[in-house]
Parts: sequence; C-alpha cells; structure tokens
Amino acid sequence: MIGFNLNKTKRQFTEVLADQFPQREAEQLMRILLEDLFGLDLTRQLMEPKLRIDETQYARLEHAVQQLLEGVPVQYVTGKAWFDGLLFHVDESVLIPRPETEELVQKIAETWPIDQPLRIWDIGTGSGCIAIALAKRFPHAEVVAFDVSEAALETARQNASLNEVRVKLVCDDVLHPQSDLWKHPVDLVVSNPPYIRESEKVAMERNVLEHEPSQALFVPDDDPLLFYRQILGLAQQQLTPNGSVWFEINEALGEEMIQLCHEMVFEGEILLDFWGKQRFLFLKRQF
Ligand code: GLN
Repeated sequence: MIGFNLNKTKRQFTEVLADQFPQREAEQLMRILLEDLFGLDLTRQLMEPKLRIDETQYARLEHAVQQLLEGVPVQYVTGKAWFDGLLFHVDESVLIPRPETEELVQKIAETWPIDQPLRIWDIGTGSGCIAIALAKRFPHAEVVAFDVSEAALETARQNASLNEVRVKLVCDDVLHPQSDLWKHPVDLVVSNPPYIRESEKVAMERNVLEHEPSQALFVPDDDPLLFYRQILGLAQQQLTPNGSVWFEINEALGEEMIQLCHEMVFEGEILLDFWGKQRFLFLKRQF
C-alpha cells in the first residue's frame, strides 16, 4: 500500500517529540500539526484510523516536527496564532501574541461605548493584533497602527485583510516620529512596547530568545521606560480631554511607571493580569 498510515505516523512522531516535550504537550503539538498541515481536526484523526498520507505529506510533517525540536514555537511552524477570537498570521517578523495582551484588549473594550466614533493609535503594532482586535470590536473607530519594522507591517497588513478590517498601517519610529499622523487628535493610545531589560534575558526561554524579534522585546537596562516616556510626550500633545492611554508594562517596573506618569502629568492606575502580576497601566490626563 502506498503512503503511510496516519495513526502510526502520528504515534511515531509523538514519541520523537516526547523526548523533548512533556507527553501531553507532545500529543497536543501533533494534533496541531495534523490539523494545520492536512486539515484533519481531532475527530477525524480519531475516527478514521485507516487514513493514509503520501510521501510529500510525510516529509512536510517530518520537517515541522524537526522545527519544533529545534525550538521554533509552534505558532511560527504553522504560521498561525489566535488572539481575541481572531486568527492571525505570524512569522519571525513579529511577536507571537500573548494572552496578557488579549486581556489588555478586553479591558480597553470595557471602557468605551462600541457605537461611537473613536480615534485609536496602536504604537509598535507588530502582527497588528491589538489594532485589528480593537478595529473589530469598535466598528466606528479609526485605527492607526505604527511600527518601525516594514516586515512587521507587511504581516499586520495581511492580518487586517484576513480579518476584514481597515487599519491604517504606518511605518515610523516612535522614538524619532516623522509622520504627520502624530499631529492628529487621538482618543485612545495603546501600546505594548519593548519592555524587557537586557539583564532579564537570562530568565527567558530559548525559543523566545532565538526566534522572536528582539527589537520588539528588549530595552536597555539604564533606560527601560524610554518608549513609555516618548509615547506619553506625544499623548500630552494629542490626547483629547476624555482620552486615555493604555500600556502593557513590565511587572517589575510598576512603581517607576507610576512615577513617570506623574512627572508627565497623567493619572495612572495599575491593573493586574490573570497571574496577579502588575501588567497594565490605564492613564488619563491630569487637569
Ligand atoms: N510579554 C512579552 C514576553 O514576555 C514581552 C512583550 C514586550 O516586551 N512588550 O515575552
């Protein structure tokens, strides 16, 4: 018989993965690969034990397993990640969206009525996940998403079209702003900028360090809040009186963040993520 029995192949590769991952995770990863590569959902995987795959399919599966063993995150292997109930394309040009960031979007969504016009900036958009999820939740919003990386913006562009929303994608460096769009009024400024200090790298996973874009993650130890300071400077100029700023922050820098906000004449409140860590900052102007 030509080809390979799917079930047998699945068992064989699960075993290979289990050398490096806990058994349950190995099984979960195999399930994801079979669904992604061959469109086989779990029910079909279980109900049709006689399914066969051909040599090309076998080779693709083998290659994907190899990538996982080399530490490539499964989202980069499949090119897919879920965020706020939406599907996103991801590759190594962008961070894989994190569940904390999804929580940030949910918190923001609770603070604005969905039926009103709203001008939003998402600064350092990466895959576009925040901007696109907000555009989806606020159908009357005008969303501008900035990033310094052309490659990231290309990914965000694909994601906006995949999710059928309009987001204005702008290539600009927030630390050296050039675009005229920074001169427009804005109601909601959101950012999940790089916030991990170089010295914190030692505590990080190899798959993050070796595969995710370091430009999106790291800041110098001697000035870890540089992006926030710059963003607050722009918000001081353009934020409407009722407007707000939302940040994802480094859990270890909450106090420093509050102090910075006061210096820059904003009132801030820190919110915890579902792990109980100081993860979000919600800001209004002080009058
Ligand atoms: N939360 C991300 C991580 O742990 C970091 C995101 C960021 O630097 N903005 O990898």
